[in-house]
Amino acid sequence: MYATKLNDYIHLIDLKTAGYDSFNGSYVLKEDNVAIIETGPTSSIPNLLAGLKELDIQTEAVDYVMVSHIHMDHAGGAGALLHNLPNAKLVVQNRGARHMVDPAKLWVNSKRVLGEIVDLYGPILPVSENRIIIPEDRMQLDLGEHVKLQVIETLGHASHHQSFYEKTSRTLFLGDAGGIFLPKLDAVIPTTPPPLHLETKQSSLEKLTQLNPEMLCYTHFGPARNAVSRLHAYSKQLALWARVVAESTEKGDDLETTYAKIVELDPSMKKAEEFIKTHTMLRQSVVLQSIQGFIQYSRKDT
Ligand SMILES: [Zn+2]
Repeated sequence: MYATKLNDYIHLIDLKTAGYDSFNGSYVLKEDNVAIIETGPTSSIPNLLAGLKELDIQTEAVDYVMVSHIHMDHAGGAGALLHNLPNAKLVVQNRGARHMVDPAKLWVNSKRVLGEIVDLYGPILPVSENRIIIPEDRMQLDLGEHVKLQVIETLGHASHHQSFYEKTSRTLFLGDAGGIFLPKLDAVIPTTPPPLHLETKQSSLEKLTQLNPEMLCYTHFGPARNAVSRLHAYSKQLALWARVVAESTEKGDDLETTYAKIVELDPSMKKAEEFIKTHTMLRQSVVLQSIQGFIQYSRKDT
């Protein structure tokens, strides 16, 4: 089983990327039209297609594939997916679009940042230009009477990051704008790789808060209620990390020491500490990169 029902119009598909359950997801919105939010990487496209099958959605019926940003875990599989969805268009932010058409540079950068993990994600296939829609901020796609999906530009995690807001159910699909949510632990791990533009990130969070959402749908991973208080908590968490890392950098602490200080002071990281140890992807990639983001940010600041 890959698909879980969230409401009459929205399902979550667990992509089980690289064999990890409950770590990377796509959302399927279906009324008269069908949209998929996030593709995951190429290696888990078969799981996404299996999820669509469970939902009884024909590949011809999908109209839109929307990605929050072009990092491989969110959009690396867009080309492979569109190959299977003959009528779908890809909705990707302006600054990300050209890398979907010609992914050579994206591949090289991903390999540099992610190392061996790219092999678990698989190749990035190109998307032909005539299948791409570049949205304006707040562009709205009505999938029917009840499903009204708005594109919300939320730069910060990446220079081309966008989120999606379904207005009727007040559901916010926030990509990586709200960190990684670990539902079993009710903990959040920041996603702040370099180059970190903290102020931009914070103002994007404020913009999302203004929407007054009811439910957050994290790409990593799953739905969570009390959306507004979660957005506030994430904003505070980022401020805390900025302070701790700035102090640590000033003292000349190494990465391990900095991490230990974060775990000590951030209740969310304290809850997640043991789990992170068991999770290669989180430990080797996400957490270290997030700390690096703050280290570089604090150096620029001084
Ligand atoms: Zn991500």
